[in-house]
Amino acid sequence: MTVRVAVTGATGRMGGEVLAAAADRDDVDVVLAVSRSAGETVEGVAVEAAADLPELLAERDPDVLVDFTGPESCVEYAAACAEAGVAVVSGTTGLGDDGFDALRDVASDVPVLYASNFSRGIAALRRAVREAVPALDGYDIELTETHHNAKRDAPSGTALTILEDIDDVRGAAERVHGREGEAPRSEGDVGVHARRAGDIAGEHEVLLAGNHESLSLTHRAGSRGVFAAGALDAAAWLSGRDAGWYDFTEVLE
Ligand code: NAD
Repeated sequence: MTVRVAVTGATGRMGGEVLAAAADRDDVDVVLAVSRSAGETVEGVAVEAAADLPELLAERDPDVLVDFTGPESCVEYAAACAEAGVAVVSGTTGLGDDGFDALRDVASDVPVLYASNFSRGIAALRRAVREAVPALDGYDIELTETHHNAKRDAPSGTALTILEDIDDVRGAAERVHGREGEAPRSEGDVGVHARRAGDIAGEHEVLLAGNHESLSLTHRAGSRGVFAAGALDAAAWLSGRDAGWYDFTEVLE
């Protein structure tokens, strides 16, 4: 079965990757691509105005909308999907509590799958972190993420997800974002560092150190294509499911 997909932020970096990945697959068919600015053609798909999204959803009847945009637009587009009965896959980061609450509201009307990271490697890294942290009781933990120089939110959504994983298995910890001047480490703190440079697609390192040893768990995304592929896997998996909130790990399992 071919899943009918709508893509938002089509002129953005991830939107373009999703359109490129979709063109190489026969389980998804892009029936709509929108962006704030209409008129461009991306990967052979004509980009239309996001302002017309409610009408366009009714007209093109996609099964799933794939969203990599900004926090406000993600919530706005998801609400339009709730009205139109279209499932939502979103990887937009920087949502904040209000954004997640709004997205969860949408999940009472249509299926919603949100992931701060759509790579299989990050899913494996998260499982490794959840195992390593309790095994290395009392070790210091420092998390470093590196992204391209145009990334807006910091720390990355993926870093926040990993920090939640650490809190889950070790109890909530004080997060220390960068250090400057007289800044000694306190026991149990988790250091968080965000680097922005060049066109790096995404790197995350969890460093655990203590007892005269250190363990470094690192993931590097070679290109944004890995996230686009994961998001389209999620779209194909989500289509036709009941309204509700779904997780990327369910797709991988
Ligand atoms: P980008 O700036 O290249 O593209 C963003 C697109 O969204 C653009 O087309 C822009 O016009 C549109 N947009 C942004 N804010 C908008 C708004 N308020 N209203 C309407 N349209 C808006 O960014 P990108 O690198 O493609 O990343 C987009 C999002 O995806 C970011 O939140 C980023 O952190 C996230 N991301 C997630 C994953 C993942 O696996 N979950 C991977 C990479 C990026």
